[in-house]
Amino acid sequence: MVIQPGDIRRMLVGHFTMPAGSTLPGHVIVVCAYVIRHPKGYVLFDTGIGRHEEAERIFRPVRRDVRDALAEVGVVPEDIRAIANCHFHIDHAGGNPSFPNRPIFAQRAEFEAVAEQDYTNPEVVEFDGATFELHEGDAVIDDGITVIPTPGHTPGHQSLVVETTEGRIVLAGQAFNDASDYGRAHYEWHLRKQGAPSGEVEVYNWVGTIQERYDPRRVLFAHDLAVWERPDVLT
Ligand SMILES: [Zn+2]
Repeated sequence: MVIQPGDIRRMLVGHFTMPAGSTLPGHVIVVCAYVIRHPKGYVLFDTGIGRHEEAERIFRPVRRDVRDALAEVGVVPEDIRAIANCHFHIDHAGGNPSFPNRPIFAQRAEFEAVAEQDYTNPEVVEFDGATFELHEGDAVIDDGITVIPTPGHTPGHQSLVVETTEGRIVLAGQAFNDASDYGRAHYEWHLRKQGAPSGEVEVYNWVGTIQERYDPRRVLFAHDLAVWERPDVLT
């Protein structure tokens, strides 16, 4: 496999502030997108924060255009060969219209739910040159880069599995809000696999699928700069 871990670049595309009455009132939440260098071209995972009237008022987003973020890692928009959004909320898919005529990989369930979802708008899927590749399940974008469904946060949330020279790296978007949430779910799954008494929180089925099928070395997130690393104490 030819993708090196360093071929996956994280980009800051802004942040927002959690409102009073939310789980983290007053806390600033980072928004990350990712770009992967592949021999066949660059793959972009998420496109930055778009405009949304209600979100503007509630979350006071601070934006950085994904094209500027790309320039900082030496990539021009014309180099992007394919795109995937983890989901269609405005902080993950807002920059889609900047990439006409480029295949955008999405789950059909997410595409069909756009009209009913909060914090998105039709512009993320309806723009000149919009080119969607809709899937119901796994889809290979390029050799070594696969989208997998990780529903929960939204009906068609998806993550990217990247095969690298140092093991698989999962870009999990907002499948979980942060690395610690994933760590707790992983430990819960680990206990259940061993038949040990575990907690009472429901763990997404796909946590087990990811672990059993891909055994990732690392999992990265859209709203957390911390990274989950495969723990060496669990066997
Ligand atoms: Zn979201």
